[in-house]
Amino acid sequence: MNTVPRVLTLWQDGESNEEDARVLRAVSAEVPLPLQEEDRRDIKLLITAFLERDDAAGLSAPQIGINKRIIIFRNKGFEKDGTPDGKGTKRDVEVLVNPRITQARGEPVVLAEGCLSCPEVRVEIARYPEIKVRGYDQYGNKVNKRYLDYVARIVQHEIDHLEGKLIVDYQGTIYVPKKKLAVFDRLLTSR
Ligand SMILES: [Zn+2]
Repeated sequence: MNTVPRVLTLWQDGESNEEDARVLRAVSAEVPLPLQEEDRRDIKLLITAFLERDDAAGLSAPQIGINKRIIIFRNKGFEKDGTPDGKGTKRDVEVLVNPRITQARGEPVVLAEGCLSCPEVRVEIARYPEIKVRGYDQYGNKVNKRYLDYVARIVQHEIDHLEGKLIVDYQGTIYVPKKKLAVFDRLLTSR
C-alpha cells in the first residue's frame, strides 16, 4: 500500500471543514505498549505522510485522521527563529509515541507559527525554549529526551495536536492573507 494519507484541515476553499475538524479537535488515545501491528502500521503511515511534505517541521497522527498519540518532527536544522541552518537533512526526523512533557524551562519565546491543518494563517505563540519529554520511540523503546529552542517549539506544537488544540486556539496575533480577510473573519468567528 503506497497511498499517502491526506492532511486534514480546519478549512478548505474558504469553507470550514466540519468532518476534518471533528478529528482534529478530538483528544487522541494513548497507544498501548508493546506496540501492536496496527499501531506500527499507523506509525509508518505517519512517517510516509511526513516525508512526502517538505513544507512542515512536524506532523501528528490526528492530522492524517488517526486519533492516536503519535508525532513526528525534524530534530535538526533550525536556527532559534526556525530558519534553516543548512545542517539538517531529510533523515533527521524523530517519532514519539505517547509523548509527555515532564519539565518546561526558561522564559517563553513568542514566534509566529503555521500549521498544515490551518492553511494560510500564522499565529504568534509563546513556547518554552527548553522541555523534557518522556515517551516511546517508533520501535516502542522508552525514551527520555530534552529539546531546545525551535525543536522544543515544534514538539510543543505537535503535542497540542494530541489534545485537539490548534494554533488558532491561542489568543496571540493572527496573520491572514490580506486578500482573504473577510473569509477568515467568517472562519475564525469563535476566536
Ligand atoms: Zn500543526
